[in-house]
Amino acid sequence: MNKSFLIAVLTFCFYAGITAQTATNKLDSILPVRGLSISAPAPEDVDGFIDFIQKELVPAHFNLLILRVDWNFKYESHPELRAGNPLTKQDVKKITAACKKAGIRIAPQVNLLGHQSWAKHTGSLLTVYPEFDETPHVKTENYPGWPNPDGLYCKSYCPLHPDVHKVVFPLVDELTEAFETDLFHAGMDEVFYIGDAHCPRCSGRDKAELFAGEVTVIRNHLAEKGKKLMIWGDRLLDGKTTGLGEWEASMNNTHRAIDLIPKDVFICDWHYDRPEPTPVYFAMKGFDVAVCPWKKPDVALKELDDMVRFRKNASPGTAQHFQGIIATVWSGNKAFMQNYYQQKQKEEESDAFTLKKLIEALKTL
Ligand SMILES: [Zn+2]
Repeated sequence: MNKSFLIAVLTFCFYAGITAQTATNKLDSILPVRGLSISAPAPEDVDGFIDFIQKELVPAHFNLLILRVDWNFKYESHPELRAGNPLTKQDVKKITAACKKAGIRIAPQVNLLGHQSWAKHTGSLLTVYPEFDETPHVKTENYPGWPNPDGLYCKSYCPLHPDVHKVVFPLVDELTEAFETDLFHAGMDEVFYIGDAHCPRCSGRDKAELFAGEVTVIRNHLAEKGKKLMIWGDRLLDGKTTGLGEWEASMNNTHRAIDLIPKDVFICDWHYDRPEPTPVYFAMKGFDVAVCPWKKPDVALKELDDMVRFRKNASPGTAQHFQGIIATVWSGNKAFMQNYYQQKQKEEESDAFTLKKLIEALKTL
């Protein structure tokens, strides 16, 4: 090869690299966290998911993936909790390597405290360890749909059971090690069953203190290993005063926990129907916060605008806490991939279309 041509090519590559780096640095100052929360793929869908990450998320400068794993990993510390078709270490290694190369951090998620059942299905933890059930007198197999007299939405484990953390913490450690990450998402949203009147340990206790206690125990476990806890924010918002209701906020007085938990817990503040100004509340309390839209593109774009504006206009002390935006997908990983690639552009209200709109917007930031 001609020497001067080679030098010209190398010079171009060098400056193109610097330009890309500068663009990422600029974006990081405008909005440090650009994320997607989605269920982990099944083992046979891992390659397709990695393609999606590379083709869609990387060009839009995404840098965080919250992967809902729950029981879908071949846990070695507690093999009895594995679901039917779990990800292997090799599967996880593939995802981790692809994300690392793209500068995307991973926060694996296992739902702790709440979401231990769904309709008539009880999850692995309470199936194998029924003694951890906060409300053993409520039977999921009788779930009649929502609403119901038992107030059953999802089961919770009892945060004061003396053995529950001996089981769940090894899973947390195994998962963060497999994904080679210092982030862990514990879910902790929509906890309706807490401090139940029939629970011999929790009855009569302050629900805010119970919730805060559990957040703190999980946070401390992670912090000992230099890792960071992420949770959904809804239990820390007052559903009555704000009018936000019992789903995206708390109607059972757990909201006072906001003043009882460590400030280094990262809050994922989900609001799907309106761009609520609640990130301001979290930021002013000293928490790093990301806003989380779902399937309404207009709401997602307003939330994105809000976060950029809040960050730009607030005092440096508060501005640093407006971390970014995390799109959420609540269908299965495979169903979402199919939607994403098959969907016609005019089908407007869906998680796939919303993510496309967000990707367009992030590319122009
Ligand atoms: Zn209890």
